[in-house]
Amino acid sequence: MGTIAENVRLARERIAAAAREAGRDPGEIRLLAATKMNGPERIAQAVAAGVDLCGENRVQEFLAKKAVNAYAPCSVHFIGHLQKNKVKNVVGAVELIHSVDSAELMECIHRRAAALGVVQDVLLEVNIGGEASKSGVSPDGLPALLSAAAACPGLRVRGLMTIPPVEQNRGENRAYFRRMYQLFVDIREKKYDNVLMNELSMGMSDDYEDAVRCGATIVRLGTALFGPRNYDTQEAPPHGTFG
Ligand SMILES: *Cc1c(COP(=O)(O)O)cnc(C)c1O
Repeated sequence: MGTIAENVRLARERIAAAAREAGRDPGEIRLLAATKMNGPERIAQAVAAGVDLCGENRVQEFLAKKAVNAYAPCSVHFIGHLQKNKVKNVVGAVELIHSVDSAELMECIHRRAAALGVVQDVLLEVNIGGEASKSGVSPDGLPALLSAAAACPGLRVRGLMTIPPVEQNRGENRAYFRRMYQLFVDIREKKYDNVLMNELSMGMSDDYEDAVRCGATIVRLGTALFGPRNYDTQEAPPHGTFG
């Protein structure tokens, strides 16, 4: 692998090529650096190389890095599973929460945002592969959540996010990405109150070009930019330290 800057440049080229292949404007796609387990110095390299966004998975890690201004001037998205008791740390502090998957979580975000006097943009996470191990709402459960948005003016639903199954073979996830795009378009046509379908967050290091070909507006890359993560420890690095 190259340096972080080289990796960012290469990812950009691949995103642009995949977009053009699909007849899309490469400017429609934002590159999000999935920064989990990477410290401020490495994040700064990605930001300097021109990623559009940073995305963090764990609230603890997000707060520790935010405290040292690790993401500036990039805006940050929350992309990990969000527990209700951590909502207060994230609402109003990130541009977009990608991982909303229950009416209870929507209600919780709405209340916190209303108390702060802000409107929190969110995506609904869809478990498109129907995997028991993954969070996300099933496609069948989406209409109920979309309807619930009307009663939650503290948030605004901006689109959908998915983490499809790990591919055994290249290209396998295209079918999932196409289904996501179809859901996205169908919802947009139905015009739910307080729902704007303009972001489709899908595609990670192994499959982002396919995701772009299928309509992604945000791709989330970790390994392709930063190299493999060190999972020697089950826990994220302790508060304030980054490996
Ligand atoms: C870690 C992570 C990514 C990036 O994964 P890579 O395969 O390393 O690119 C993207 N999205 C989410 C939600 C993640 O947790």
